[in-house]
Amino acid sequence: MKCRICSLSTTLFDEAVVLKKYRVKYYWCENCGFMQTEKPYWLDEAYSRAITKSDIGLIGRNLQMVTPTRKLILTCLEPTDKFVDYGGGYGIFTRLMRDQGFDYYRHDPLCENLFAGGFEASSNIRYTLLTAWEVFEHLENPLDEIEEMLSYSHNLFFSTVLLSTSLEPLDQWWYYGLEHGQHIAFYSHKTLQIIAQKFRLKTHFSDGRLHFIGDPAVPPFLIKLAFSERLSWLQKRMQRTAPPSLLASDFQALTGKVLK
Ligand SMILES: [Zn+2]
Repeated sequence: MKCRICSLSTTLFDEAVVLKKYRVKYYWCENCGFMQTEKPYWLDEAYSRAITKSDIGLIGRNLQMVTPTRKLILTCLEPTDKFVDYGGGYGIFTRLMRDQGFDYYRHDPLCENLFAGGFEASSNIRYTLLTAWEVFEHLENPLDEIEEMLSYSHNLFFSTVLLSTSLEPLDQWWYYGLEHGQHIAFYSHKTLQIIAQKFRLKTHFSDGRLHFIGDPAVPPFLIKLAFSERLSWLQKRMQRTAPPSLLASDFQALTGKVLK
């Protein structure tokens, strides 16, 4: 089987039972460190719900991502630009970021937009940053999908848990998601580097779970500031440059009523 990232031959890593009934083969690429399942024929069943019942981390994850995204935008990008949450599910993150004052839009053709109605992303607009939370591990053809993401923005800030260098057995790592069958692509640090190179981008930041791949022109010292925990002056600067919440004006546009 060919690697879906670098096209070289993969080796069979192991087999596991997915969705309690399908015996699925997992292949590993020695060249780029990418792990993929065999062709995922079970996805229709896996996505009978777009968001799995077992994804109880959904709300917490969206909340957690607000602060790092806010820091990244306020430090390295133009806060009054437009942003897109790709694979944005119910629109929770888009809503949260709009509450924070950022002109955010939701992209997700597979899921109902419950919280960010009226703020659907458009493929005709270039966005300054694209966020994609827990999307990459769902991709059947990552390169095609990443290319699609890049048509929205050249800065990708996303989460996916990377494989450790000693590959975890299939029955011992929760992230393989055997019970819901939606995780079919697993990346290593090297995989991300190769993806970035392929699209002439730079891996600016990666902590094993959160990754920022984007425009090589973003200065490294700003990246360092954006992901630093320590600098209190940065927080002051962020407060100074932070725009006011869009919640009230959005509410008024939607209902004609003033939110008090
Ligand atoms: Zn590969």
